[in-house]
Amino acid sequence: MVVTCVFRYTIQLMPDDSRQKVLGLISLGCPKNTVDSERLLGELAEDGWRFTDDMGNASALVVNTCGFIRDARLESEEALDEICEIKKSRPDVLLVATGCLPQRDGVSLRSRFPAIDLVVGVGSLPELPRLLNDLWEDRAAISTDEIELITPARATLSGSHVPRIRVTPPWTAYMKIAEGCDHECAFCTIPSIKGPHISRPVDDLVSEAEQLAADGVREIILISQDTTAYGSDIGTNLRTLLTELDKVDNIDWIRLHYLYPSKISDSLLDVMADSSHIIPYFDIPLQHVRPGILKSMLRLAPDLDFLDLVRKIRSLFEGRANPACIRSTFIVGYPGETENDVDALLDFIESARIDRLTVFKYSQEDGTAAATLPGQVSEHEAEDRMHRLMEAQQDISLEINEGWVGKNIDALIEGLTDDGKRVGRTYRDAPEIDGLVILSGVPDTIEPGNFARVKVTGALPYDLEAKWLWC
Ligand code: SF4
Repeated sequence: MVVTCVFRYTIQLMPDDSRQKVLGLISLGCPKNTVDSERLLGELAEDGWRFTDDMGNASALVVNTCGFIRDARLESEEALDEICEIKKSRPDVLLVATGCLPQRDGVSLRSRFPAIDLVVGVGSLPELPRLLNDLWEDRAAISTDEIELITPARATLSGSHVPRIRVTPPWTAYMKIAEGCDHECAFCTIPSIKGPHISRPVDDLVSEAEQLAADGVREIILISQDTTAYGSDIGTNLRTLLTELDKVDNIDWIRLHYLYPSKISDSLLDVMADSSHIIPYFDIPLQHVRPGILKSMLRLAPDLDFLDLVRKIRSLFEGRANPACIRSTFIVGYPGETENDVDALLDFIESARIDRLTVFKYSQEDGTAAATLPGQVSEHEAEDRMHRLMEAQQDISLEINEGWVGKNIDALIEGLTDDGKRVGRTYRDAPEIDGLVILSGVPDTIEPGNFARVKVTGALPYDLEAKWLWC
């Protein structure tokens, strides 16, 4: 599932002539969108664009939108409103909407935001740098069709040769290994936005990992819609990719997101267990645990015993210094969900005691199979279910964290808290999603991006407190 994040990228402006190619970018949505934005920045930099976070001073403003559920759409529309407002006082500024929202809404987006000069669906993203440059040079040079460039849903992927300006901390990088999705989950708009699944070749991904390592990246995070589907379209598989990535020097952590539960094979687990760099972090979006709901959701293998899966993963890493860390997501308030189904979710989290859990409220999305199902659950009821589950999980998360007190663990040192404390992440903490380790005793000479051995001294529901031992 997708977690919304925002970045506004800044490069110092040069005092220069009056008509500068200066771009402000608002990137919303998931890490896959972040990677798309990074490629866009890289390509535009090669075309002479520079970047600012001062939206009022940009000569072009781009919003890379998210649009897979209502809340994400609202956030994207707010960002579009924001840039349209700027145009009222600066009519020359070029406005661009790209990403999932225009792909989903089509030309209706431009009728709602007529100030926007260019609308490029996610399937046409590779065309965006050329179109923006053309627009900058001569507005008349662009045909009406190209001003609203929305092709049928299709996934696009940039290879390692496409320049990229990364916006994540220098020591962490996302690698988009595949895009699109062949599943038909009844609640999900993503296949209709992104189109069928496509994968990048293994050698291109290895080459990118090598480039990232040479740039000082210590952690790479593999992302896609369904990472276990990697390679199915190009005659390879995730095991092969992981085996090759594991050989890349100087990458300390390889983190995987979005493992489809029924496709976690024993051989995949073996590759992960045998690797020294693939961390035992299992991000498995279960969505629900009741077979009836999972069937209605059109999830694969709705009868799979998830408790068995959790136990199997845990047993493989039992006794190790870094035991398996399991994260999942649930959707509550799905049409037809009853109180018994919610009780089953509560029972599951009590029994499985997974480390990390995010609970989403079901979002009724036009065009999905679930939108027309009977038994739609009220917003209020879904909200209540979400809170009950999150409260139960909070207690479990605290107990699991308390089990770490007194133990030593590696932490990747990052930034500072608002009150000036240094923080890091362990292998159990994906950036922007999971917790942090609040560190004490880190010498000032230790720069962010280094690994430290730390001793856990305290536990909070989602974070740990720890004392620096050595680097
Ligand atoms: S696996 Fe299901 S939920 Fe995930 S992107 Fe594909 S259709 Fe959507």
